[in-house]
Amino acid sequence: MEIIHVSAECYPVAKAGGLGDVVGALPKYQVLLGHNAKVVMPMYRTKFLYQNEWAVDFKGRSNLGDWWFDFTVIKEKHNTLGFDLYLIDINGLLDREKVYGYSDDTERFTAFQIAVVNWLSHWQHKPDVVHCHDHHTGLIPFMMKYCYDYNKLADVPSVVTIHNAQYQGWMGWDKSMYIPRWDSWKRGMLEWEGNINPLASAVKNAWKVTTVSWSYMEELRYNSNGLEALFEYEKGKCAGILNGIDADVWDPATDKYIDNHFSEKDVDEGKLANKKLLCDQFNLDITKPLFIFIGRLVGEKAADILPDTIQSCLYNFKDRVNFLMLGSGEPHVEWQLSQLINAYQGSYNAVIGYNEKLSHLMYAGADFLLMPSRVEPCGLNQMYSMQYGTVPVVRSTGGLKDTVVDMGDFQGWGIRFNHASVGDLTHSIWRSVQLYRDKNRLRHVRKKMMNLDFSWEKSVKEYISLYESVK
Ligand code: ADP
Repeated sequence: MEIIHVSAECYPVAKAGGLGDVVGALPKYQVLLGHNAKVVMPMYRTKFLYQNEWAVDFKGRSNLGDWWFDFTVIKEKHNTLGFDLYLIDINGLLDREKVYGYSDDTERFTAFQIAVVNWLSHWQHKPDVVHCHDHHTGLIPFMMKYCYDYNKLADVPSVVTIHNAQYQGWMGWDKSMYIPRWDSWKRGMLEWEGNINPLASAVKNAWKVTTVSWSYMEELRYNSNGLEALFEYEKGKCAGILNGIDADVWDPATDKYIDNHFSEKDVDEGKLANKKLLCDQFNLDITKPLFIFIGRLVGEKAADILPDTIQSCLYNFKDRVNFLMLGSGEPHVEWQLSQLINAYQGSYNAVIGYNEKLSHLMYAGADFLLMPSRVEPCGLNQMYSMQYGTVPVVRSTGGLKDTVVDMGDFQGWGIRFNHASVGDLTHSIWRSVQLYRDKNRLRHVRKKMMNLDFSWEKSVKEYISLYESVK
């Protein structure tokens, strides 16, 4: 089957979060099953671009309203990632260093989507399925169906995966002229509550919609940043397929970012060696349990409750805990987490920023991972941490609910709580401290987690059956 993944991110080309990890892995595992999976994404100015060789695949011209632009599709020459990778270059618009965060993101991603459908409509043959990821590619199913110039693609099945429904790509109707000549009777297929809403449009127009966990699929029907009624209405074509993790990148026995490799057999020794590196580097105490947080410092991740929770724990549990934070996001949370560094030297440290290498060492060396998320479509961090023998401390929501069973439940291993509050998180940290003291139980839990199967193989088969159901 020929599958075209369209995405704003793909690891290791460009990654801002879980979307990048998924689009870097899913096609690779589809290829291993014998399918012809390809990825097309914007050509940002990333290291990957300069370190690899490219061939021009297609040159085209299109317009965004009355602004005409040329675009070039380049293809990576050596199949380095295990699948065909295409980048779309639109001079001045996509060739930036960051993936998101520019004032013209609407124009950037709309032009990108136009270039993708333009390119596909020039193919001699048609792909079997076009698989779009998140709102940055959400207008594609509409364009394939209702833009006159791309009519050729109207019968090509489109699938949309929602990695995060909080962000929807809203744009005003004044920007409707960006979308290439379209059937104006279909205005309703672009709109939600008075605006053009690319994510809503994707849900309306795609042949199938998936989210990255079963519980998140359920949650969207009563909590999806305004789209609840739409998900309720469209539930017949929606399915949850849990993300997997890429064992080539995330395996403590082979991880290229860490020096002290370990497996389930020597988990205690392996983790201790990595913890020592972290404690030496960040002035922490190796004898105390190490709690980490890795992620975007935003409300969705409940990062705002971390500073008070850390203070509450360091005050109430005195010298019994260590914390190390890695992330960036809302400036006031960044500021609060930085302020604590001086106040709690020896028990607390934080790195504000994005650091892939450090994140691997942290999963390997920490004892507990904190994820108090208010919203968590799937969550990869908890899966990585379990694979590295680090106990996840998570709020019961979305994918966290689907992947972590509380220690108090039958054969459970993690720690779960219900409210994204300082009180609930502090209590869970206290439960973690109790577990840390019970070395035998901790060892048992670590081994159990490392044996859990979060591989892509199973999920990939579910995606293939989904495509087959619409072919
Ligand atoms: P998100 O909602 O951000 O996509 P996920 O849990 O699905 O959350 O995926 C987050 C991914 O991003 C993980 O691979 C995590 O290790 C990585 N990550 C997030 N923030 C950072 C950071 N500051 N430094 C390094 N890696 C990070």
